Amino acid sequence: MELKMCHIYPDLLNLYGDRGNTVCMEKRLQWRGIECLFAEVKYGDSDPLSDYDLIFIGGGQDFEQKLLMEDLQRGKGNNIKAAAEDGKTFLAICGGYQLLGHYYQMSDGTKCEYIGAIDVFTVAGEKRMIGNTACISEEAGTIVGFENHAGKTFLSGTVRSLGTVLKGSGNNGEDGREGARYKNVFATYYHGPVLPKNPELCDLILKTALERKYGFFELQPLDDSAENAAKEGLLRSWKL
Ligand code: GLN
Repeated sequence: MELKMCHIYPDLLNLYGDRGNTVCMEKRLQWRGIECLFAEVKYGDSDPLSDYDLIFIGGGQDFEQKLLMEDLQRGKGNNIKAAAEDGKTFLAICGGYQLLGHYYQMSDGTKCEYIGAIDVFTVAGEKRMIGNTACISEEAGTIVGFENHAGKTFLSGTVRSLGTVLKGSGNNGEDGREGARYKNVFATYYHGPVLPKNPELCDLILKTALERKYGFFELQPLDDSAENAAKEGLLRSWKL
């Protein structure tokens, strides 16, 4: 049994240890005896993405987000959109989340036209949203992370949020919503990296990918006592 994972733009989008999410997914599969084949798709690489079960995109700065627009327009954007529409499992963080949407209007006036894989758009606000953050998700319990973004993301159409904000700003600091869910796409503003801090979310993402490939799938439980104690400590210190 195996999952094929792909990290898109590891060279351009990888803030605050976002790459750790791929390590976490790989480890939690291996600990259960499930093989994880890992590939990187960088700027300039052409890959139809049809071979992967799990696709990861990290966050980045406005500078890199402008650079990659050209690369997206050379076909990668369409391939990402088709993969999401086909029900492949995605985890996208911050800049990667924005890239899945229709556009990101930056504070310097640049409008990055993105791919519209999910029905969201992003507009830079005047104040950066920085700090520790938490939300509560129906699917994955309490999720903790760290956010640092100027972009304010708004959901529409068929996209629902990942969770309801408990601390921090979430998608836009206005509507109390954090992250996005569409088909098997999971998107969030949470760095950290987010998955080692939130094993329940990691397993939900893995289960989603495994079920798409193999049908109903029961993941063998792991000992998450250290991770959960760390999370509870954080939530206590934030008085949540
Ligand atoms: N550059 C984007 C913003 O500021 C994304 C930041 C990020 O990925 N942390 O909104």
